[in-house]
Amino acid sequence: MMERTLSIIKPDAVKKNVIGKIVDRFESQGIRIVAMKKLQLSLEEAKAFYAVHKERPFYESLTQFMTSGPVVVMVLEGEGVIAKNRAIMGATNPAQADPGTIRADFASNVEQNAVHGSDAPETAAQEIAFFFSGRQLIG
Ligand code: UDP
Ligand code: MG
Repeated sequence: MMERTLSIIKPDAVKKNVIGKIVDRFESQGIRIVAMKKLQLSLEEAKAFYAVHKERPFYESLTQFMTSGPVVVMVLEGEGVIAKNRAIMGATNPAQADPGTIRADFASNVEQNAVHGSDAPETAAQEIAFFFSGRQLIG
């Protein structure tokens, strides 16, 4: 099924200057970028984006990290791209991520793990709408 998903290149990876290397992982797998922008999240935005994790012990630190520098937010499009993106990203903890995944290659630790990716069709739709209007998605 043709799908769209939200991808974020997190502040750690932007600082490491690997935006292009990460985008290439998607494009070389046939995924298309239908929207893309660089921005700095406010603490309020980061807290809203990660609201699902607000009871978790890492919420404060995660939202501080996500506001610590610019991010690159993208909408990816392709066949089964929600699961495909998660596979390309690798496990949340880079110590457990398969070799060749983005997180194995670029993440620093379980928090500063280079990329975000939506985990299901409903969250993908919500997360895309959090950052982009319909007319900003250019298929
Ligand atoms: N995270 C963390 N500590 C943990 C688990 C997660 O700091 O023990 C951070 C990490 O940046 C992760 C984000 O919280 O990417 C969201 O967690 P989730 O379980 O949704 O992982 P993801 O879907 O990003 O793989
Ligand atoms: Mg998640």
